[in-house]
Amino acid sequence: MDQLNSYADNRLINGCIYCGGPEETRDHVPSRVFLDPPFPENLPVVWACGDCNGGFSLDEEYVACLIEAVVAGSADPARIRRAGVASILSRSPALRARLDAARTVEDGQTRFGIEPDRVRNVLLKLARGHAAYELSQPCRHEPTTVCWWPLGLMADEERDSFESGHIIQTLGEVGSRALQRVLVTQLVLRAPDGQTATVGLLVSDWVDVQDYRYRYQAIDDGGEVRVKIVIGEYLASEITWSGMAG
Ligand SMILES: [Zn+2]
Repeated sequence: MDQLNSYADNRLINGCIYCGGPEETRDHVPSRVFLDPPFPENLPVVWACGDCNGGFSLDEEYVACLIEAVVAGSADPARIRRAGVASILSRSPALRARLDAARTVEDGQTRFGIEPDRVRNVLLKLARGHAAYELSQPCRHEPTTVCWWPLGLMADEERDSFESGHIIQTLGEVGSRALQRVLVTQLVLRAPDGQTATVGLLVSDWVDVQDYRYRYQAIDDGGEVRVKIVIGEYLASEITWSGMAG
């Protein structure tokens, strides 16, 4: 990945980006449990306190294992395609037992019950990391919405709108990484009388951390921060904070 420098005013995001505590450690966003080796270089990093840095790892392992178990239809390490996740399940019998207990088979369909609090906790943590790194926006307060769903279950129209680049109407924090990633495109508009006008558009696109493993899009839409995350091309999510300073 390209490591972009942030030239934004970062005074607002001093301290642990999750709780505001001391800057004790550097935390990767996303955590490596969602990626496969060789890991991308220059992964985004944010400041975290020691408690927060370690405090999410069990839930993150749970989410990574849940996704692969759903894809495989089983929590048996021998059937899991990602080696890192198979090894977590091999050394964590309790986690495997928990996933096995949540598995049901009905009419030949395998389903896993999920622990929504843990999924939410992880997505919110990841979204806070992306908002801080990409947008220089501290989003420590409660979000307005946290939604997630299987990517494959989206209707075509919903999927198109979810996948599209976002056209920026108002500019985000000047110098933030998200603005440096912006693609500038030009659109030629033609009126019925043949007159043309060229307008510039700013489009903020997805950041692909690793193909098939993890991508995200962070949008500062003047008053609303919106982060979309797709993990394993399976779990799609959108986390928003309204009422932000524009
Ligand atoms: Zn913290």
